[in-house]
Formats: sequence, C-alpha cells, structure tokens
Amino acid sequence: MLELEDAFARKFQYLRLSITDVCNFKCQYCLPDGYQPEGRKSFLTVAEIARLTRAFASMGTSKVRLTGGEPSLRKDFTHIIETVANTRGIAKVAMTTNGYRMAKLANEWRQAGLTAINVSVDSLDPRMFHQITGQNRFHEVMAGIDAALTAGFSQVKVNAVLMRGLNDGDLGQFLGWIKHNSIQLRFIELMKTGEMDELFDRHHVRGALIKTQLLRLGWQQKIRALNDGPAEVFYHPDYQGEIGLIMPYAKDFCASCNRLRVSSLGKLHLCLFGDYGVDLRDLLADDQQISGLQQRLREALVDKKATHFLHDGHSGMTPNLASIGG
Ligand code: SAM
Ligand code: SF4
Repeated sequence: MLELEDAFARKFQYLRLSITDVCNFKCQYCLPDGYQPEGRKSFLTVAEIARLTRAFASMGTSKVRLTGGEPSLRKDFTHIIETVANTRGIAKVAMTTNGYRMAKLANEWRQAGLTAINVSVDSLDPRMFHQITGQNRFHEVMAGIDAALTAGFSQVKVNAVLMRGLNDGDLGQFLGWIKHNSIQLRFIELMKTGEMDELFDRHHVRGALIKTQLLRLGWQQKIRALNDGPAEVFYHPDYQGEIGLIMPYAKDFCASCNRLRVSSLGKLHLCLFGDYGVDLRDLLADDQQISGLQQRLREALVDKKATHFLHDGHSGMTPNLASIGG
C-alpha cells in the first residue's frame, strides 16, 4: 500500500473532515459574531465524501473525525456517518460537536457507526457557558453527554478552552466533575487565528501553566504511544477521568502530527495554520478518479512543513477554526 507519509517520516492515518462551516454557536474564540454566510456554498456531498474517504483509506487512513462548523447541523449527518463507517479500512469514526443535538441523536449516531465523540464544554457554570458560547444551552449539552454514555460510547471526550479572566478559575470544578466520571477532559490552549483581535492577548493561558498545576495536584503524565497524536495525557489514582492537554505552542507539538484535514469545500489542508488549501473537488466527481486523487494527495504531502509558524504570530489563512474544521 502507498501510505501517506511526509518528508519528515510522519505517517497520516487520521483525517479530519469538515462537512460544513456553518455553526449555531458564537464562541468568543471562534465565531464571536456568529456564522456569517457568504453567498451559497455547496458543501461536499455524501457521494463526494464516500470517494474521498475511500481514497484516504486506500492510503492507510484508519480514523476519520467529522467536524465543522457544527457537523450535526447537516440534515444528512447520520447518512454521512454511515457512509464513512462502511468504508473498508476505516476503523474509527469520531466527531467533534458543540453537543446541541446530542441528547436527541447520540443513539442514532452510534447505530450508524460513530465510535467516539468529542464535545465542547467550556464551563460547568451555566452562566459562564452562555457567556463564552453565546448560547444558553448548558443543560442540553450536559444531557447530551449523558445520552452518549447511555448509548454506549466508551469514549466521550470533553474539550474546553481555558481563558484568563473567564473560565480559568473553573479548573477545580472540572476536576471535581471527572473524579467519578470516566471522561477525558481536554484543555485546548487558546490559538490565535487570523480574525482574532485582542482577545488572544487578553485571555490566553499558557498550557504549561495548567500542566504545572496538575503536576502539583498529583496528576501524572502518561507515556505516549507512537501514534497518540499531540495531546499530553494525565491520570490520577483518585480520579476516574483523565486530562488531556493540547498545547500547540509547546516545543515539538508538531513532531507527532498524524493528521490531515479536508475542508467542507473539498480542499486539503496540510496544517491547521497553513497558507493554502489544495483543491481536491475536481477529482471527487467519479469513482474512476481514485488514482488521480491518490496521486494529488501524495504530491501535496511533499510540501508539508515540519511545524506551524504560530510562534512568529503567523496563523496562516485560517480566519477561525470553524472555517476549515477544528
Ligand atoms: N462546533 C464543534 C465544536 O465546537 O466542538 C466542532 C468544531 S470546533 C472549531 C472544534 C474545536 O475547536 C472546539 O473544541 C473548539 O473549542 C476548538 N476551538 C475553536 N477555536 C479555537 C481557538 N481559537 N483556540 C483553541 N481552540 C479552538
Ligand atoms: Fe461553533 Fe464550534 Fe466554533 Fe463554537 S467552536 S463557534 S461551536 S464551530
């Protein structure tokens, strides 16, 4: 099999596929003014998603994460899960969601073949949740987490972006919550994207600071397996849950990169913070185009850079993470 491998011997078995850039939340760090439609966009169809997934799977991809925008806003979302899950070679189908339809649909998604859910919950205080996300839906989202656990998902991860002066004081409450819940809580360090104004300087909390706090509280870092991706994971003997830290500004964050991204308009992005996308859509119209698609993927990978350039204040073409899929 011709695998997806770059010039730095990194292998890419993980595809993050954005299926829409539309979102109904207004997270301060992502779409503070809400989604702004720019004319009529036509997002990848189920048939195009099927061809794309087949090509990636034929080159070693075994895990696909469906993201957005808010992926569950698509009416054909369950059908998309089914299509990806039924692709030969795909063992894991995950999604990242703001959770607002999860209480209703978690079971249906699981039956369709979804294997893992990451849901964003930035605060356990309903008022702070509302302030950060622009949506007064804390209780619905928490009901969604219960529904996912009841539906039998063994992996429910909760994403939170800790921000100075907003929810950075919530660490203790978050830890209390996972004492008796086997959830992996993932703190994502705030990333500066193209459209972000002074919000980053006002609210950025270094991931290293959280790591120091955790170590002081007796949390221990897990040894990373080869294909674990960039999260640093911590456990504590007194807690059922785990903590993952995603620190894009940390040294060597990109060394373990194992993922490629495709936007909802069919562009390959080699990095979340890259300067361009490689159009794939002209090769998604017909099943016969698979070898052309494989070749374009291979050629594109040659240009994948060793790291992002966030440290130089360069966040590439990404205006916000909803635009190409966070
Ligand atoms: N709408 C879904 C959600 O919120 O989970 C999926 C898409 S969202 C772009 C994916 C993840 O990116 C969320 O967990 C969100 O918190 C995170 N995110 C968005 N903008 C971010 C930023 N500027 N810095 C760090 N994380 C960010
Ligand atoms: Fe929407 Fe997710 Fe962005 Fe929040 S982080 S605005 S839920 S896409």
